[in-house]
Amino acid sequence: MRLILLGAPGSGKGTQSQKLIERYGVPQISTGDLLRDACNRGSPLGLKAKAAMAAGKLVDNAIVLGIIRERLAEPDARGGFILDGFPRNRVQADALGALLAEIKAPIDAVVLMDIDTNVLFRRLTGRRVCPKCKRVYNIYSDALGDPPRCTNCPERTLLVQRPDDREDVIGNRLKVYAAETQPLIEYYAEQGLLRHVDAEGSVDDVFARIERAITGGAKSGT
Ligand code: AMP
Repeated sequence: MRLILLGAPGSGKGTQSQKLIERYGVPQISTGDLLRDACNRGSPLGLKAKAAMAAGKLVDNAIVLGIIRERLAEPDARGGFILDGFPRNRVQADALGALLAEIKAPIDAVVLMDIDTNVLFRRLTGRRVCPKCKRVYNIYSDALGDPPRCTNCPERTLLVQRPDDREDVIGNRLKVYAAETQPLIEYYAEQGLLRHVDAEGSVDDVFARIERAITGGAKSGT
C-alpha cells in the first residue's frame, strides 16, 4: 500500500496515518515530523529549515526532497508507506513521481482529506502534543485536565502546543496550502489517483471512509 494523504494543515492526516499504520503495517512518512526532528537535533539541515517552519512557510524543496529520498530508501518503506505532508507543491510531486517510477513503486491512491476552514482553525488552535510519546490531542474534544496532560504516558507528561499552531502562524499556513498544495488536487485527479474523503466527524468515522475510498477504488474528480 503506497498512499499519499493530501489535505490542509489540521485536516487529520497525522491522526489517520496512525490508524493506517495499524491497519496496513506500513510506516507513516511525515516530512513535518522529519523536519521537526532535524530542528530538535540542531542538525545543519534543521537549522536551515527552522525559520521557514516557524513562519508557516514551506521549507526549501531541495532540503525536503533530500530528506524524503533518504527516508524512502530505508528498508521499512519497501513494502509501502503513507506520505503525510508530502508532496506539498508541484515540484515535489513531479520529483516524487520520477523517484517512484525509477524504483517501479507507483502510488496506489491519493486521499484528499476534505474539511471546512472553520473546523480546521479549531483543530489547529486546540491541538496539543505530548513531547515524550508524540501523541496528538485536542483540548476542545479530549478530557485532558488543566493544564492539559498526556493520558498515554504513565508520567502524565505536560502537553505542549506546536509553535506553528499559534493563531498568527495558522493563517499563513492555510494561505500557503491554498496557493501551493491545492493545485495538486487537480494534478492527481488527472492521473486518476484522487479519492475524496469527508474529513469531518469522529476519527473512526473518517477512517472508515478512507478505507472505503482506498479499497472500493471509487475514483473522483476535483
Ligand atoms: P506539518 O507537520 O506537515 O504541518 O509541517 C510543518 C511545517 O514543516 C510546514 O509548515 C512546513 O514549514 C514544513 N514542511 C513539512 N512538510 C513540508 C514539505 N513537503 N515541503 C516544504 N515544507 C514542509
